[in-house]
Amino acid sequence: MSSFTRRVKEELARHPLTAPCCARAELRAFLEMRGELVLSAKLQRIIMLTENASTARRIFSLVKHCFALTPQVLSVRKRRLYQRNLFSVQIYGRETVFTVLQELGFLTVEPGEGRYLLWQRKNGLEKTCCRRAYLRGAFLASGSLSNPERDYHLEIIAPCEAYARSVMEVLFAFGLPSRFFQRKGSQVVYIKEGEKISEFLRIIAAHGGLLKFEDVRVVKGVRNKINRLVNCETANLTRTALAAHAQLDSIRLLLELVGLEQLPPSLREIALLRLQHPEATLRELADLADPPLTKSTVNHRLRRLNALALRVKNNARRNGERL
Ligand SMILES: [Zn+2]
Repeated sequence: MSSFTRRVKEELARHPLTAPCCARAELRAFLEMRGELVLSAKLQRIIMLTENASTARRIFSLVKHCFALTPQVLSVRKRRLYQRNLFSVQIYGRETVFTVLQELGFLTVEPGEGRYLLWQRKNGLEKTCCRRAYLRGAFLASGSLSNPERDYHLEIIAPCEAYARSVMEVLFAFGLPSRFFQRKGSQVVYIKEGEKISEFLRIIAAHGGLLKFEDVRVVKGVRNKINRLVNCETANLTRTALAAHAQLDSIRLLLELVGLEQLPPSLREIALLRLQHPEATLRELADLADPPLTKSTVNHRLRRLNALALRVKNNARRNGERL
């Protein structure tokens, strides 16, 4: 888990518990993303798993808040080396399990005979407050964020396509299109764009995380801008250097084949200045002229020198002279 994920989750786990509708929506997301149901003659349990102690406390508080129940919290030590411990928050007892499933929209009671309908309730998320809470729960349950210094990546892992689609629909309702792919039998819903991740953090009310994320984004943005400017500047310098190089070639050719004294005084002056100051800019050459010239006059005269050199060169070639 990235340090940024941990930071955002710790912040979300402290989010105040408010309306019961939202608490239920958040709990429902936990159940969809990380919930398990144990139903045997002896045991009836809802189990919600998490790697994070603060998230385990959050689930505990949500269950208490919604159902006035005290769930069991167990720490499950993983056998394999390097695997993190898991926390398992459990709601137990046949009646309780069925009530919770029913309240969260996973079951409906058939009147009479203790029969239930398995039914994933589609309503319950029509209010914006509840949709926010649902996304908060989904992120706490199985979401992660890359450290923004590295790259922009948000993902939420769902155990099946139906729940992945449910997360995607809610994201979409907030104007956040996402994509998904399969990884080891799970469905990974993800968002890659910095701007959208920022919006996601705003929606789930991770304000501290949002500030940190935006800080990094601004610094990165400024750095990119500077890089672009530097590249642009380098391109300009290269262009100037190439132009000066071509001018020097022309002048040397004229010097050799014609002699500078044959040139009109205005061109001769610029030719000499260029030879003496191979790296000077047009502006600098203009200032060095006596009397000083404008940049565009210097440019014009250098072009005339280039044209002249080209003509001399072509003549010489026609006359079979070696260059
Ligand atoms: Zn609500």
